[in-house]
Amino acid sequence: MELAKKFQEQKPSGMVRVFQAIDKMQDVLNLSIGEPDFVTEPDIVDAAAKGAKDGFTHYPPLQGYLDVREAVCAYWERHHGFKATPDEVCMSVGGLHVPWLAFGALLNPGDEVMLIEPYFTCYDAQIRGNGGVPVYIKTREENNFAPSIEELRAAATPRTRAIVLNYPGNPTGRVASQKQLEEIAEFAEEKDLIVLSDEIYESMVYTGNHVCFANIPGMKKRTLLTAGLSKSHCMTGWRIGYVFAPQNVINTMCVLSSFQTYGVNALSQKAAVYALNTQDEKVKARARIFEERMKAVEARLNAMKGVKCHPAEGAFYLFPDISGTGLTSEEFTWRLLNESHVAVLPGSAFGQTGEGYIRIACTQSMDTLMKAMNEMEKILQK
Ligand code: PMP
Repeated sequence: MELAKKFQEQKPSGMVRVFQAIDKMQDVLNLSIGEPDFVTEPDIVDAAAKGAKDGFTHYPPLQGYLDVREAVCAYWERHHGFKATPDEVCMSVGGLHVPWLAFGALLNPGDEVMLIEPYFTCYDAQIRGNGGVPVYIKTREENNFAPSIEELRAAATPRTRAIVLNYPGNPTGRVASQKQLEEIAEFAEEKDLIVLSDEIYESMVYTGNHVCFANIPGMKKRTLLTAGLSKSHCMTGWRIGYVFAPQNVINTMCVLSSFQTYGVNALSQKAAVYALNTQDEKVKARARIFEERMKAVEARLNAMKGVKCHPAEGAFYLFPDISGTGLTSEEFTWRLLNESHVAVLPGSAFGQTGEGYIRIACTQSMDTLMKAMNEMEKILQK
């Protein structure tokens, strides 16, 4: 069957090529996956089963059940002091579905969306797929991979419509400072931009507290704040996320989802109500485990020749600079995979700024992580 032209020439991304190679290999120490190794807590699973027995087996409301939207609001107020009402929340099929619906609701053909490098790869396709044009903003490691207001101004055009933020960030694991976010807020105000702030790693911040972008004065009205339970509550397979957005945007996102998914799995929503209301201590405890793992891996990396790794700030990713080895990020990644069966991702898969870096997901046991570090060390000594 002949595929659409747009897919005929599309090559798999740097990330997909690594995933495809791993599928054909055995005994891989896999540090390429961005999902927690922990399974969903059994009491959350029970809450979903109860939902099924209680008859939540019908089409759900497009925006999501009221109880889960209330639980989302309570969670954000409790953890981040962010105040919103359930009518400002829309549930989604994972956090991943939010940009698709949001760009669908907001972009006109040719609208430019600023994407800060290195970025979570899916945004690029989500902007293009909805008629937008991604504008890549280069950043530097010494600035936490966050742009200055001057850099943003230099990239702005009359077509600039929106900017995507992601702190704590995938792939960098970096957290932007309050000052950096305030500068971005000033810029958003100046250019009247929509801000899509992906804060899915909000529960994993190791340097101070998470800064919620929509809490910056004046920002709530122009911000779509998105997150989900995949990372914080180890619920990747349940496909449950959400967005806080202005009412008219939510209404249009609901219309769009009525053509696509017709809402979000009812039982995942029932599991999410329970999870959001009861698991704060477990979420915190897991964040401490990720932090310990990241500190241990960072120490090992910094002892390796040609590798420099910044301390963990957030999420569960380390993004070491491997340029001192003389290898590109693709060369490093493939050598490690082919010679030692250790899988990481090349930084270049996340935009040009990522060249010279690799992404290591600390989403495996300490034992696996240390074995992987032993292998990496051996390769670099060769
Ligand atoms: N945003 C970021 C930055 C992510 O890293 C991910 C998952 N890798 C998502 C959104 C989407 O996660 P999910 O759809 O599982 O909620």
